[in-house]
Amino acid sequence: MPRPSQHPLQPVLDRAAAGGRITPQEALDLYRDAPLHALGAAADAVRRRRYAGTEHIATYIIERNINYTNVCVTACRFCAFYAAPKDTAKGWTRDLDDILRRCAETVELGGTQIMFQGGHHPDYGVEYYEKHFAAIKKEFPQLVIHSLGASEVEHMARISGVPVEEAITRIHAAGLDSFAGAGAELLPERPRKAIAPLKESGERWLEIMEIAHGLGVESTSTMLMGTGETNAERIEHLRMIRDVQDRTGGFRAFIPYTYQPENNHLKGRTQATLFEYLRMIAIARLFLDNVAHIQGSWLTTGKEIGQLSLHYGADDLGSIMLEENVVSSAGAKHRSNLVELLILIRASGRVPAQRSTTYEHLVVHEDPANDPVDERIVSHVSSTAIAGGTAHPELKLIATT
Ligand code: SF4
Repeated sequence: MPRPSQHPLQPVLDRAAAGGRITPQEALDLYRDAPLHALGAAADAVRRRRYAGTEHIATYIIERNINYTNVCVTACRFCAFYAAPKDTAKGWTRDLDDILRRCAETVELGGTQIMFQGGHHPDYGVEYYEKHFAAIKKEFPQLVIHSLGASEVEHMARISGVPVEEAITRIHAAGLDSFAGAGAELLPERPRKAIAPLKESGERWLEIMEIAHGLGVESTSTMLMGTGETNAERIEHLRMIRDVQDRTGGFRAFIPYTYQPENNHLKGRTQATLFEYLRMIAIARLFLDNVAHIQGSWLTTGKEIGQLSLHYGADDLGSIMLEENVVSSAGAKHRSNLVELLILIRASGRVPAQRSTTYEHLVVHEDPANDPVDERIVSHVSSTAIAGGTAHPELKLIATT
């Protein structure tokens, strides 16, 4: 029972903060109506308990997105990145040498992870990914390939005429370490059909992730907020992930990010507010009691909101993403370098730690005097950061904000 001066939802918040499981309806009530700071405090309490002993640390990773093609048959309405196969003026692909050069730059800059991300090219079946992952692993065995998601698996299996189990097994054997959980967007049927009518259903996306987890390939999970979905549909997305996670335990992290409104068919008619985003971070920490890591996404929300997210349940601030073209094509304007990211994490009262893909702490930056000072480590533009590097013409320099 709430005390007379208490918000009526405080007992639910207290139960969640103490580690009790909350129902989807309770999550929806909290998401809509709980006072913002009380919601953040409950989520932070859960984070602190889960990471007792290291709760003063916030992690980041250095990685590179390699966008291998923008040619795509799926034409998602929120996407500003793709080119239809017939649009030869806009479409491009990268050859293997270019991809390997980008991997070499990643290693030189201290990156540990590759996110191979691209369109659903009509010619790219399982064989394409086998060839490229094997080549990357042969030259750079130290790089972790954390890439793709259920949508790409469904597409490549269809192109090659094989079951998804075989596709996953083969690309895993060739070098894929884990799935990045791309293509989750919104999992419930109505909003998914509205923004990505040609993608597989949300149930199928989860089914493929569950198959992958069963084959020993873990993943992260994502959520695209702000394309016109309701609050109830956001919570339903979380419920669908939590149910699968109860069975597999294979989702390492949950990463919500906000729709970027430029250059796509939705034309920015809808957008999630920053407070909605912070509330989602907090609800995810409270509701997804079976997912270890909640990631704040400063790339789409900005550095200050990224900092705040660390007080709303996030334990990780994502990456210095040495190259990114997909959300930046749709208007994400935030970028950072490593020095700045370390300052940003410290200013929010945490000790920064570089992590691996599986969240081990590689370097804990306890003493600012020992911080790395390599200013070439800049999100989005690494290929222009090394002498002799090449930036793809599609890769725009984005003003620092
Ligand atoms: S989001 Fe991915 S699958 Fe959808 S159109 Fe863009 S590149 Fe294609």
